[in-house]
Amino acid sequence: MEFGWSAEEEAFRAELLAFADANLPAGWTTRIPGEEPYSDFTVEFCRKLGAKGWLAPHWPEAYGGGGDVSPWRFTILSEELWAMGEPRGSQYMNTNWIGPAIIAAGTEDQKRRFLPPIAAGEALWCQGFSEPGAGSDLGAMSTKAVRDGDDYVITGEKVWTSYAGKAHHCFLLARTGDPAGEGQGISIFLVPMDAPGVSVAPIPSMLDIHVIHHLKFDAARVSAANRLGPENGAWPIVREALVNERVGAPRHIRAARVLDQVVAAAKAADRLEDRALAAAGEARAVCLAARALVHKVRQMGAGGRDPGALAYLARAAVVDAERAVADVAADLAGPEDLTSGSVTDGEFRTALIAGLGGGSYETQLNLVARLWLKLPKAA
Ligand SMILES: Cc1cc2nc3c(=O)[nH]c(=O)nc-3n(C[C@H](O)[C@H](O)[C@H](O)COP(=O)(O)OP(=O)(O)OC[C@H]3O[C@@H](n4cnc5c(N)ncnc54)[C@H](O)[C@@H]3O)c2cc1C
Repeated sequence: MEFGWSAEEEAFRAELLAFADANLPAGWTTRIPGEEPYSDFTVEFCRKLGAKGWLAPHWPEAYGGGGDVSPWRFTILSEELWAMGEPRGSQYMNTNWIGPAIIAAGTEDQKRRFLPPIAAGEALWCQGFSEPGAGSDLGAMSTKAVRDGDDYVITGEKVWTSYAGKAHHCFLLARTGDPAGEGQGISIFLVPMDAPGVSVAPIPSMLDIHVIHHLKFDAARVSAANRLGPENGAWPIVREALVNERVGAPRHIRAARVLDQVVAAAKAADRLEDRALAAAGEARAVCLAARALVHKVRQMGAGGRDPGALAYLARAAVVDAERAVADVAADLAGPEDLTSGSVTDGEFRTALIAGLGGGSYETQLNLVARLWLKLPKAA
């Protein structure tokens, strides 16, 4: 059995790196200091990726994709772009899980309306799941969508919504039925952000460039043609989307690159003691383990197999990788790392949120315990 990348995949990686080199602004390291991840630059960069067929190589050609049945080209794109500070900005979500959810559950009209702009790099989306009273327990959400003729009227609020300030659409979960009834009464809506009654406010945070928001829906009217999947039928679609989301942010790859940088800097400054070197080795092993698990989930998904609890384990391992590297970086930090914007500062901030955005770390462990290890639920 051959575990390496094929010559064709390696050639693609080299072509992608050369493309990034030619198109990233001078001085780009892992981010553009002072700019938001969804800045005008990311839109311009995504248009170029879209023109090369590199935003959605794994989608059907009929909807703007590349028709690639192998998951590896998209995996290489995700790994390399995330490692260099994700110059796709919010659009990494579009091709990773929002588009695939529309491909899986959308009507033909929805696929034709929403997918080509995503594949071309023209669409900005946000994810409206979490609420002030519903995060890990999404079933407790209270945002309501009430049918009124050909529309739904949506009332409620969402919180921690990344990228919402510039998004054109929100992939929104809202309650349409009885919480104790079919599918816990939850449906999905593809909501235009310029619909009357939708408002967005940024939430100040210490996350540096990652801007999160509070969304309000004040009797916002959305066409029933924008409901994705059946009424009260959100969960099977969301479950699959969450598997893609869990393995869609290769934090372990960026963490491994940061580890190389901080170890090299500490070595150059003669600060690399044996104990720190051992911790760095362990962190590197955690990064590799996370990558292997993520690849396994990608491979199973591409083969039409449900990765089940492996996706939760992979997501937990990715968080472990980010945290392990942040610990080593903090341990090895010198005076030059104590400034805002240093590699260590960036790693520490991203590690702080790694176990929350995309689903909490503890929730993943609970799911592994229940679904895989079959452990009983505490009363
Ligand atoms: C940077 C960032 C970006 C985000 N972007 C988005 C976004 O775009 N869209 C969106 O919808 N949401 C987003 N979120 C929200 C994120 O999905 C939630 O923070 C996460 O699901 C946890 O929900 P919560 O914040 O309500 O915390 P809670 O669910 O209240 O959890 C608080 C703590 O308790 C722990 N906990 C909760 N229940 C259990 C349990 N049963 N057993 C053990 N421990 C438990 C959790 O692990 C966590 O540590 C983002 C969050 C961050 C930090």
